[in-house]
Amino acid sequence: MQPTSDERSLGFWNGSGPSGGDVLAMKIGIPKERRDDERRAAASADTVKRYKGLGLEPVVEAGAGEGAAVSDQAFADAGAAISPDGAAWDAEIVLKVQRPTDEELARLKQGQVLIGMLDPYNSREQVDAYAKAGVTAFSMELLPRTTRAQAMDVLSSQANLAGYKAVVDAMAAYGRVMPMMMTAAGTVTPAKVFIVGAGVAGLQAIATARRMGAVVTATDVRPAAREETESLGAKFVGFVPSDAATKGGYARPLTPEEQAEQAKMVAEHLKTQDIVVTTAQIPGRKAPRIITAEMVRSMKPGAVVLDMAAESGGNVEGSVLGETVTVGGVKLVGAKNLPSLIAPATTVLYARNLLNFVTLLIDPKSKELKIDTGDELIKGTLLTQGGAVVHDAFKPAA
Ligand code: NAD
Repeated sequence: MQPTSDERSLGFWNGSGPSGGDVLAMKIGIPKERRDDERRAAASADTVKRYKGLGLEPVVEAGAGEGAAVSDQAFADAGAAISPDGAAWDAEIVLKVQRPTDEELARLKQGQVLIGMLDPYNSREQVDAYAKAGVTAFSMELLPRTTRAQAMDVLSSQANLAGYKAVVDAMAAYGRVMPMMMTAAGTVTPAKVFIVGAGVAGLQAIATARRMGAVVTATDVRPAAREETESLGAKFVGFVPSDAATKGGYARPLTPEEQAEQAKMVAEHLKTQDIVVTTAQIPGRKAPRIITAEMVRSMKPGAVVLDMAAESGGNVEGSVLGETVTVGGVKLVGAKNLPSLIAPATTVLYARNLLNFVTLLIDPKSKELKIDTGDELIKGTLLTQGGAVVHDAFKPAA
């Protein structure tokens, strides 16, 4: 058995094959996340144990699980080697939550497999850097949203919990109560909550607000969202262009006429709402602007608008990423990395998503990497391979 060029360049090959001696088990590295405000980890104690079961050697950087309430000891007990230095970056497979920092980019090695939320639409130049480094990079956000992909779908697992956290945070910023309260001193009316965008995050936000006793309405532009909203006991408001869903199941941008019609509805509805959570996104583009400054000024004092799209440009005019600003008595919360704020919970799901994906890449018999680009989930996420950008959405035009 001959080493591949990738194996040689990484120095993973120990010079002997099955007939001549041992082949080193492949290492899977989990470095500590270094970006600001990122507390999640790319593995949990449970997934480390399962990687061992797959025949891999997990190497976890000391402190990698700190923000997610997983101690080094818990990782070690699950079978990981804990490295105080950068050994996790020397592994054949490196698991990340967020895209590498510039320092981390410099650590990438030829033939290495990098898996994470690499944010390629907003970090196009990094895609070229992976190719230049000879890295086989997979971006988990690009996973096709098929039934088979569900167990690996990081956007869904993280958005789901983020939708919950958005409502919890909006409620905390709201100076009143969510449910109706009937007391001897009188009745407190329930909060009116409006969810804009009833996708994965929005549906969880609807369910959470309903559980807390609020009166919930929601809007979206995809026809399927109406029934999903109503099945959760919320009222659907607004208009839905019949062709607003793309083949991939996402929303398309609205035409200026459609935008004007939506704005009319939103402007009227907002005047009576106490809490608004906006989640609207168009993949690969700036988030649609749905609430204008003028609409905010028309809202009741004490109302809260939490903008979950603040990181991708914002659904709400005037919202500031990572800050709460008050405009005419209305609090605008520019949500920043909500999944990280509940890292112990989101890490469990994210780690599982990656485990399920890595399982696709490992040949169960030989325990070696087998990247089958005929598999739509692998092809759909594979950004770079063999020194080139190979993903259809990012490769240079022919
Ligand atoms: P997303 O994050 O891209 O967008 C969030 C929501 O905003 C979407 O519901 C979208 O329709 C809505 N939106 C966009 N522009 C809007 C506008 N101008 N006004 C109001 N709402 C607007 O979407 P997502 O949450 O990732 O979900 C996208 C789709 O994928 C949904 O249909 C979801 O059910 C589907 N999905 C399928 C699977 C699966 O089958 N495996 C898994 C996850 C999601």
